[in-house]
Amino acid sequence: ESFHDVAMGEIIMGNITLSRYTRPTPVQKHAIPIIKTKRDLMACAQTGSGKTAAFLLPVLSQIYTDGPGDALQAQYPISLVLAPTRELALQIYDEARKFAYRSRVRPCVVYGGADIGQQIRDLERGCHLLVATPGRLVDMMERGKIGLDYCSYLVLDEADRMLDMGFEPQIRRIVEQDTMPPKGLRQTMMFSATFPKEIQILARDFLEDYIFLAV
Ligand code: AMP
Repeated sequence: ESFHDVAMGEIIMGNITLSRYTRPTPVQKHAIPIIKTKRDLMACAQTGSGKTAAFLLPVLSQIYTDGPGDALQAQYPISLVLAPTRELALQIYDEARKFAYRSRVRPCVVYGGADIGQQIRDLERGCHLLVATPGRLVDMMERGKIGLDYCSYLVLDEADRMLDMGFEPQIRRIVEQDTMPPKGLRQTMMFSATFPKEIQILARDFLEDYIFLAV
């Protein structure tokens, strides 16, 4: 088994090699082909399982192949990843930078507890893949600094932790706002370590005809 089994394009394959990832982890092996069929996904996977690359690789791959023109020229994110904490957001951003290396895809990260002005200036330089904590993103939206009209790929990472931290109102504001493409017109991927009632309800509300994966 290797990453060559899931066609990913030369730039990404080169960056996977640079990252020294030789073989896909179980969640990568199963989630990547599902995401590449453009189906919505509810994946139960633990931290450390390699779930970050499981969504970043196919999403980046689709941005490269589907959005060579208009979408990449847009200043606004094509893909949004929501994460519960600054630490996790930064980890996802670091991995996104590795995989987007030498490509035209520009990742950005915004999180609370840091200078918002600097984050806004960074976004204004153009952003295709935005990693964000929910509170800071709502703040940015209220200031009119974020348009989600182009957001074709939405990822909720560690969804159970985001709910435990009380982010449900912010998540709903982001996902259910007018400019966000509705479900069915975007591809949505939820990752969670557990699958309690509250996550099932979010999955019902945010996902369209989804595939359930537990690894
Ligand atoms: P994650 O569960 O996404 O937080 O990943 C856990 C750790 O495993 C991170 O340090 C990743 O860089 C690393 N990792 C993820 N996928 C692979 C892979 N296929 N081969 C080697 N290391 C990996």
